[in-house]
Amino acid sequence: MIAEARLSVDLDALAHNFAQLRADAAGAEAAPVVKADAYGLGVGPVARRLWAEGARRFFVARLGEGEALRAALSDRQAAILVLDGLVDGAAPRMTAAGLTPVLTTLEQIDAWSAMSGLAGPLPCALHFDTGMNRLGLAVESAIEAAARVEAAKSLRPQLVISHLACAAQPDDRRNALQLQAFSQARSAFPGVPASLAASAGIYLGPDYRFDVVRPGISLYGGGPREMPDSRFRAVATLLAPVLQVRDIAAGESVGYGTMFTAPRAMRIAILGAGYADGILRALHDQGTACLNGRRAPFAIVTMDMIGVDIADCGVVRPGDMAELLGPNVLLDDVAAAMDATVAHEVLVRLSRRAEKVLIGEV
Ligand SMILES: *Cc1c(COP(=O)(O)O)cnc(C)c1O
Repeated sequence: MIAEARLSVDLDALAHNFAQLRADAAGAEAAPVVKADAYGLGVGPVARRLWAEGARRFFVARLGEGEALRAALSDRQAAILVLDGLVDGAAPRMTAAGLTPVLTTLEQIDAWSAMSGLAGPLPCALHFDTGMNRLGLAVESAIEAAARVEAAKSLRPQLVISHLACAAQPDDRRNALQLQAFSQARSAFPGVPASLAASAGIYLGPDYRFDVVRPGISLYGGGPREMPDSRFRAVATLLAPVLQVRDIAAGESVGYGTMFTAPRAMRIAILGAGYADGILRALHDQGTACLNGRRAPFAIVTMDMIGVDIADCGVVRPGDMAELLGPNVLLDDVAAAMDATVAHEVLVRLSRRAEKVLIGEV
């Protein structure tokens, strides 16, 4: 194999994480969230493997993502729910691809109901805003929403959902307030399954799990509480080769300008990956790689190259592979080093430049 940066996606680790989430959801159905190309890891193989593991209902954000997922799953009879809702003009494409819009306004209920008058019975889901103030119907409109769905006759409500704003902070009082508001909204839809929890919400306790949970990040190895959690295995591993090893005298700089000036004589390995591979430049004084099983702190990050301090890494040669993300350099630690971001953003930024390698059966 040529020594070039490569991103491996471990489908066995994905399956392990899915099984873990299912076990922890204790009886609720786990419906994977595979928006943004499965958090950047490739929706086709990810969704097909999750289907093989028993997933039957998937969430995406955009209409186009739903269409891509439908194509990737070909004749598998999965329910695909589109969180954006029924944006203007989307209805014909929704029906053509057999997608279920997660309706977020009364007008969308009416528009989808009009479509069902033409196309025959159509599935829908309803999203209530319980405090995040992003998308969703007002809880106060639940009775009216239910009446419109009922009046439509050919709308088939499959799920009532809401989304938690603070689930990674179990002590935040807004969790209980959202739970209460959600319980009120769903009471207008007796018999319709309900879903409130994403990865973090699953761990708020049984009251938050309802019928369906919607894990995203923890499927891909991120801890549900925005910190490393050993129950979840790394799915994405980014390796980059050592291109050159050089000795630097104290006071010399490395890379452009003054990003890094050696405080002492140092040995630096130049790795063949950079911010064009999704390792942000902002990590230059916080990030670490793993080489020979040892930590190698970052010195510089440029578009194509990262310089790391290999004082503790023993003998390092060109062609050796350094881990920039994976089982030793954990997603949540990289997110923390990136200041004010979350594991989700680290994953979706991993670019397509690195060669992608699948591990495990699709
Ligand atoms: C992205 C998203 C999820 C998944 O969240 P994770 O934190 O990745 O588990 C679930 N539900 C909705 C509505 C989302 O937008």
